[in-house]
Amino acid sequence: MRKGLERTTIPKNSEVHYGMKASNIIGKTMHFLVHNSFLFTVTVMGVIHATLLVIMWYANVMPLVRFNVLSVVVYLFCILLCKAGHIMPVYVSILLEVTAYAVYSTSLIGWGGGSYGFLCSIVPIIIYFGCFLWKGSKRWAIVWLLILNFAVYVYLYLRYAKAQPVYELPFAIKSVLTIFASFVMVFSVIFYNVVYIYASEYERVSLEKKNRQLSADAREDVLTNLLNRRGFLPLVEALMKPGQAKHFCIAFCDIDNFKRINDSYGHDCGDEVLRHITKLIKKEMQGCDICRWGGEEIIILMRDYDMAVAKAKLEYVRGYVEANPTSFFNKRIQATLTIGLEEYRDSYHSPEEIIKVADERMYYGKQHGKNILIYDDRKAGDEDV
Ligand code: GH3
Ligand code: MG
Ligand code: MG
Repeated sequence: MRKGLERTTIPKNSEVHYGMKASNIIGKTMHFLVHNSFLFTVTVMGVIHATLLVIMWYANVMPLVRFNVLSVVVYLFCILLCKAGHIMPVYVSILLEVTAYAVYSTSLIGWGGGSYGFLCSIVPIIIYFGCFLWKGSKRWAIVWLLILNFAVYVYLYLRYAKAQPVYELPFAIKSVLTIFASFVMVFSVIFYNVVYIYASEYERVSLEKKNRQLSADAREDVLTNLLNRRGFLPLVEALMKPGQAKHFCIAFCDIDNFKRINDSYGHDCGDEVLRHITKLIKKEMQGCDICRWGGEEIIILMRDYDMAVAKAKLEYVRGYVEANPTSFFNKRIQATLTIGLEEYRDSYHSPEEIIKVADERMYYGKQHGKNILIYDDRKAGDEDV
């Protein structure tokens, strides 16, 4: 079952209000109308026929009084259908009812009664709601409906423009009816255009928002909100391009014995440790680009750092992580980092090359006690770490 047109086209709880603040009264009204355009349409139709009912009663055209009573009942029923989400029957009812009314009333009160205006007023309805109900080649139905609508219009003109009406109304009443039908026609054109513009604007804003979110998601790690490889590598590449200031260091950090933390306290605890260490690193390494390279591996791009400053800073970070265990359900989980550090040199031609050296140094540290910063090429067996 299709829910109401408005509800299916646009999600209700959105914060996007077409560039307007939610508090803005026009924005709120438009938001409501766009979301409830079908319900609004049938309600207005009911009101129009209630008005016509009064005018016809006053003009003493009883067949049209009865027809308008029937129309009001039809639209009350349509309101219920709308609320139940049955859009197609409502669409068909509107088209049939308006066409029947235009034909019937013109046949009784003549072309001068202005009822042809109602035929024009449903043109935007045919297009706007038809585009929602039909997709692809089915939209040819809209063209046929428009042709049919115009054919009825022409038929009424040719048949009744010069014919003597059954009920000859006074000029004042004919004027009121014609002006009223013209107003309905103009209102319809303006209303559905405005609703269409707002709905398009809404979709554009929502899409832009989603696109921004998607491209951020593609570059970021969900657990830690750090950059992932896709987001990180281009940053290093950009620094290595000719003409760029090539003064930077790469630090490869790996959490020690992380598997043991998972095994002892559970995977959720492991996640929490990862998040906590990420926060500590972010706090201390502000201005640096930080990447979750893999499981419990974090790489830091330290722009404008030379080896001496980077060494001092990372030694501090290593000690800071060691001194700040993760709190997890009243437990304090101690974790440490082993870090490999390398400074950019001209001999490096790709990010992977410099990252590989930092990784090898980190690996050396793993083999020599962990919880350590390695910043030069030591050979296995060196004891001065
Ligand atoms: P080492 O000190 O040598 O680095 O040992 P380790 O246990 O830290 O390293 P190892 O490579 O043996 O294990 C890494 C573990 O990290 C294995 C994997 O299950 C875990 N891991 C990877 N990604 C995640 C994650 O997102 N969350 C959690 N909780 N665990 C993860
Ligand atoms: Mg590890
Ligand atoms: Mg690892």
